[in-house]
Amino acid sequence: MNTETMDLYDVTIIGGGPAGMYSAFYSGMREMKTKIIEVKQELGGFMRTYPEKLVWDVGGIGPVRCEEIIEALMKQAKTFDPTIVFGQEVVGMEKRDDGIFILTSKTGERHYSRTVILAAGRGITHIQKLLVEGADRYELTNLHYTVTNLNRFKDKRVLISGGGDSAVEWAIEMAPIAKEVVVVHRREDFSAFESSVKRMKQMTKAFVPYVVSRLHGNQNKIERVSIQHVETGGIIEHDVDEVLVNHGFERVFYGPIMKWGLDTEEYGVSVSPKMCTSLPGIFGAGDCITNEGKIRLIAGAFNDAVLAVNSAKLYLDPNDTEMGGVSSHNDRFAEKNEQLMKRKSKPETV
Ligand SMILES: Cc1cc2nc3c(=O)[nH]c(=O)nc-3n(C[C@H](O)[C@H](O)[C@H](O)COP(=O)(O)OP(=O)(O)OC[C@H]3O[C@@H](n4cnc5c(N)ncnc54)[C@H](O)[C@@H]3O)c2cc1C
Repeated sequence: MNTETMDLYDVTIIGGGPAGMYSAFYSGMREMKTKIIEVKQELGGFMRTYPEKLVWDVGGIGPVRCEEIIEALMKQAKTFDPTIVFGQEVVGMEKRDDGIFILTSKTGERHYSRTVILAAGRGITHIQKLLVEGADRYELTNLHYTVTNLNRFKDKRVLISGGGDSAVEWAIEMAPIAKEVVVVHRREDFSAFESSVKRMKQMTKAFVPYVVSRLHGNQNKIERVSIQHVETGGIIEHDVDEVLVNHGFERVFYGPIMKWGLDTEEYGVSVSPKMCTSLPGIFGAGDCITNEGKIRLIAGAFNDAVLAVNSAKLYLDPNDTEMGGVSSHNDRFAEKNEQLMKRKSKPETV
């Protein structure tokens, strides 16, 4: 058997966010050999940027911290043991005469698949880092770009740099528990909701228009921060315990994938109501797609995933059923159900 045949998958999913993870679960449920390729070193997608936030609008499970949803999705995605490839950005796609897709990663690896589900979200997200000399030295200690544990800021002197929703919301959440919260923003106006900005200004000390100009510390920790007035150049220094930088994200989507010849619109790859792109055998799910009914929510990603997987299944075998069987009456789970029933009388999680 040659290597290409050995490594052939029924479905290859590009992107490991909620759309990609749920597609992997559903594809396994529909008995297809499945692979996920994710450029980052972890699954979760954009949800990784707001792990500590409470999410209310995912059917049946809110309000829970976003990282709990990520954990549950990862566990579910692995139900049928898909292959998961990390650290590879898919850039190239070619369709051979025999219908097999060859996906190429930026680092040169090749992946063979009978269908492709594009679940690349709004692209690859890069956190906008603090552009101050030596900042990266403190990333493992007290310079943060996301909040994973709010308690860490309890009774601390916190400096937050940024003027958008995240900076303002974290300032409001931290103010009651921190010793002091100072917000530094390069513009006079904040871009968050007016009511939130008003609250934040009542609860914290806001410095505008200022930027963080220097970090002072020992090898491991920032101890003091210089902030500089954007117009006058005047400098103020603050003693700090923790620094949070919320300068937003840079997203790169309209890159190599856009050269594959897919029909696109302003907000993503055009798909039919059943998630078919303009290229037969390539389907889409989640925030990367657009059609009249698209909902850019986690719940919307699940819906897209089911449709995309069902379309992939039908593409591979037009005689198969259009829909997968419901999970409650599905032979695919018989063995797992039996094991679960043996372990506990009332199963709560798989
Ligand atoms: C601030 C904010 C708060 C939100 N809060 C909520 C909320 O409370 N409730 C809710 O339902 N929704 C919320 N959303 C929306 C929700 O996060 C998105 O709808 C959801 O993450 C989309 O999932 P996705 O899988 O389509 O894309 P993403 O989550 O963006 O995942 C795409 C994945 O694909 C990977 N990728 C991209 N390109 C490639 C490539 N070429 N090769 C390999 N991998 C690639 C990326 O690294 C990423 O992991 C929020 C969004 C924002 C911006």
